Amino acid sequence: MPALVTCCIAFLLFSSTLLSAQNTGSATAAPVGLERHPWVLVIHGGAGGPVKGTLTTKEEQAYLDKLNEALKLGSGVLSHGGSSLDAVETVVRFMEDCPLFNAGKGAVLNENGKAELDAAIMDGLTGMAGAVACVTTIKNPISAARRVMEKTSHVMLCGAGAEKFARAQHLEMVDPTYFITPERLAAWKKSRPAPTAKPEKNEPSTEKHGTVGAVALDENGNLAAATSTGGMMGKMTGRIGDSPIIGAGTYASNKTCAVSATGHGEFFIRNVVAYDMSAIMEYRGAPLEEAGKIIIQDKLRNQKADGGLIAVDKDGNITMPFNTNAMFRGFARSTGEQEVAIY
Ligand code: ASP
Repeated sequence: MPALVTCCIAFLLFSSTLLSAQNTGSATAAPVGLERHPWVLVIHGGAGGPVKGTLTTKEEQAYLDKLNEALKLGSGVLSHGGSSLDAVETVVRFMEDCPLFNAGKGAVLNENGKAELDAAIMDGLTGMAGAVACVTTIKNPISAARRVMEKTSHVMLCGAGAEKFARAQHLEMVDPTYFITPERLAAWKKSRPAPTAKPEKNEPSTEKHGTVGAVALDENGNLAAATSTGGMMGKMTGRIGDSPIIGAGTYASNKTCAVSATGHGEFFIRNVVAYDMSAIMEYRGAPLEEAGKIIIQDKLRNQKADGGLIAVDKDGNITMPFNTNAMFRGFARSTGEQEVAIY
């Protein structure tokens, strides 16, 4: 075979390997000989938490321990060449199973004392996204969101349709009471008669918030974002927040950044917060941190809208702005750095 032909075949084989490694979004290590990006993982367990001093040292430690465990799990995925998508799904599943946070087990309850859950995931490489809303029997809504992204031609499924799909996908289903913890039930009872459809803003309470989210940059340079929540305490039945709405509470693009938001969802929807982060970077050329500040500290604060977000950009910069008393948050890097914080 002439040398040129051999050379062309070798090149084609090499490029198709590279392409499939980038397109699967699954646990593929960077091809040998190619540069590996330092990976980054950022997580949150909700903004709008308690005023400093409200939680006991033991309670604070319980939150910090869970954030550290979540970071360790996600770091395990990323340090073994796993994709950012796998990392954010793994972390959010863990936090959904943890009763401390307002997602999955331990979700806040709606006006009827039921947990109605929302979740979304987005792949920054392909621009594909999936979401579920108002589900009551899917144990891990984030995994259902990922299946919507990967197994359907749709972006969002809600209620009974989402649950039918999850069952068909053999995802774990539970009785709606599985999500209700004694603490959330007590808080719900205390909050009755049900708050009006317009909840008060900036109330220093762990009961209203605690949404969970994760964003990551993997060693192939791909970004992903995931968010899961029970929404807001006493919300109207059927209310859908920002978390499952692509561009509002969740967004990822390899061109700019990956974002997961938390806070008073209606404001995050109206301000298209997660996409706005990306747009400010793309069109204004602003750095990640500045984009976060513009949205959380200027735009939302001016509207008296409480909340925060976590974001990582394509170069591995991170930002975690919030305008509330607290935001459960943390990050880990391939350098071995790992930090968690509440206030
Ligand atoms: N953003 C969520 C929602 O409005 C609540 C939260 O982040 O705590 O549904």
